[in-house]
Amino acid sequence: MNIVTNPLKLQEISTRLKKDQVTIGFVPTMGYLHEGHRALLKAARDQNDIVIMSVFVNPLQFGPNEDLDSYPRDFEHDKQIAIEEGVDYLFHPSVEEMYPVPMSVRVKVERRTNCLCGRSRPGHFDGVATVLTKLFHLVQPTNVYFGKKDAQQVAVVHGLLEEFHFPINLVAINTVREEDGLAKSSRNIRLTPKERDEAGILYKSLSLARIELIKGNVNLAELKKTVIASIENESSGKVDYFEILTYPQLETVNELTGTIIIAIAVQFGKARLIDNIIFELDNTSR
Ligand code: AMP
Repeated sequence: MNIVTNPLKLQEISTRLKKDQVTIGFVPTMGYLHEGHRALLKAARDQNDIVIMSVFVNPLQFGPNEDLDSYPRDFEHDKQIAIEEGVDYLFHPSVEEMYPVPMSVRVKVERRTNCLCGRSRPGHFDGVATVLTKLFHLVQPTNVYFGKKDAQQVAVVHGLLEEFHFPINLVAINTVREEDGLAKSSRNIRLTPKERDEAGILYKSLSLARIELIKGNVNLAELKKTVIASIENESSGKVDYFEILTYPQLETVNELTGTIIIAIAVQFGKARLIDNIIFELDNTSR
């Protein structure tokens, strides 16, 4: 495996690969890799000639009071996982190499961001879209791999690829979970043992809400209130949001039919956890 830190060097490598008609699978990450990242890497390895992974904690997508400095990092461990999963090029630039000071251009996301994490984390998706625009120009991937755990990110990236005419295919991979349903996340390391025991409640609540929606005849506002109250009664978590929306538009649900996302964010002490489930509602079967 080759480790590349210089952006233009990486672009040179991928330009050469593209000339040789090689397919490139790209997995962008912020490192501290776990089984969720492995699922993306395995899919990329299966479906492409060459696999490129980036490990870059992108300062642009963190707000001023967020956890940029304390975001978990372990590059040696990430390198090991990259080798095990057959990554060909591991891109690990420094912040200075990625961003000139001062920056003169940023990408701004106008739709699908006034809800969920977009509302709680102003500017977050602008930071994501900016770094991805740069990464896509450097890597020139055939296929890019994202996890459905970050479903709003997947929706935003769809818009970015389409509206900026990137000739890149997006592959969304199912969320990898712990036995109690907790979605694997680099931030889970921040949970105390007690919070870790409680954190299964995110997926449990999503699953119960899905059953209510499938049954139909449900008042969405009441359902949201009940779920939030039960999470805050049964755990030490503080609910940031619990939303039921259309997917991928992320708009209000007017009719219980079509593709629906139930999404949740809960703050447990030092860890903000997110999760969601996406499913089809078919009103003819009720
Ligand atoms: P991150 O390093 O947290 O920015 O995540 C990098 C990529 O891995 C993103 O596309 C995430 O959606 C994806 N990912 C993170 N956790 C999981 C998980 N538990 N299952 C599947 N994909 C995941």
